[in-house]
Amino acid sequence: MSRFWSDVVHGLTPYTPGEQVPMPGLVKLNTNENPYGPSPKAIAAMQAAVGDQLRKYSDPGNAVVKDAVARRFGLTREQVFVGNSSDEVLAHTFHALLKHELPLLCPDISYGFYPAYCSLYGIEAAQVPLNERYEIDVEDYRRPCGAVIIANPNAPTGIALPLERIEALLAAHPDQVVVIDEAYVDFGGQSAISLLGRYDNLLVIQTLSKSHSLAGLRVGYAVGHPELIAGLERVKNSFNCYPLGQVAQAGAVAALDDVAHMEQTSQAVIATRTWLTAQMQTLGFEVLPSQANFIFARHPQRDGAQLAARLRERAILVRHFGQARIDQFLRISIGTDEECAKLVDALKAILG
Ligand SMILES: *Cc1c(COP(=O)(O)O)cnc(C)c1O
Repeated sequence: MSRFWSDVVHGLTPYTPGEQVPMPGLVKLNTNENPYGPSPKAIAAMQAAVGDQLRKYSDPGNAVVKDAVARRFGLTREQVFVGNSSDEVLAHTFHALLKHELPLLCPDISYGFYPAYCSLYGIEAAQVPLNERYEIDVEDYRRPCGAVIIANPNAPTGIALPLERIEALLAAHPDQVVVIDEAYVDFGGQSAISLLGRYDNLLVIQTLSKSHSLAGLRVGYAVGHPELIAGLERVKNSFNCYPLGQVAQAGAVAALDDVAHMEQTSQAVIATRTWLTAQMQTLGFEVLPSQANFIFARHPQRDGAQLAARLRERAILVRHFGQARIDQFLRISIGTDEECAKLVDALKAILG
């Protein structure tokens, strides 16, 4: 608290990110980072971009990145928005498209930044409870609203909705923007991008942080009808005309073009996820069916917060949320096979 803060600042509830602790030997499974490196082509492109040209401003239109996204998904540049991380793209989306007279609908358990942006931009939200299996049931969203946002696969559950359910949601709200946050879609989900031609109310947001292993680069994008994109551009150009530097632009293009690297590493993550899920079940955990690069699991006899603390003592970080309904769960990012084996060994020891 400070007497210098504006009223807005007093009213904020900021998002708490997973901790970044520089400790050698730490098994870090708390922030859904990719255990495999980014495309070597992306690294080479970024190294080549470091030079005298950095004295100039980057292209404010992000044309090369937009074109790479458009190429990848068979879209036009006018259907693409680019930002400095998908968190920033989400922030501009809340600001530009999600504040209306009626409340924004979002799941009660989802990405923690959604309520944070609602408080930042003064957006009224109505939280729709996940069903008893921790799934989003789109039938529960059939009610008057100003807009809808969901993550698919959802976080932190990892559960994905089939495309046909997303389409039902879009069809039920032809006059509201429906935002699908697809941060984890490359690990087994179905992207709604294929529906863009038929729904002008659809905005899909993706990031290079997870499946492209570039969390440190901070690049995200949204795709949708040119009118939605134009709204985002207006907010962006009232905020920061150059959200991506030249190095990030070069790296993003090369990463987006190297689909093979992304698919190979995602398949490796999926294989480890299958193994870890089976191991956790053998240890007595209930594991929700994940299509993401993490699993969400609870033990019927062991307290979630205590398990996370015991793992931490053994230099293994996982994420625990002290939120109603999910405070017994651990969210565990899929690391390398070796890291996940260390986790399983530690859990065996802790459970006795
Ligand atoms: C990780 C994550 C993001 C943010 O990704 P960045 O591009 O790194 O900001 C957005 N949405 C969800 C659901 C995420 O889990």
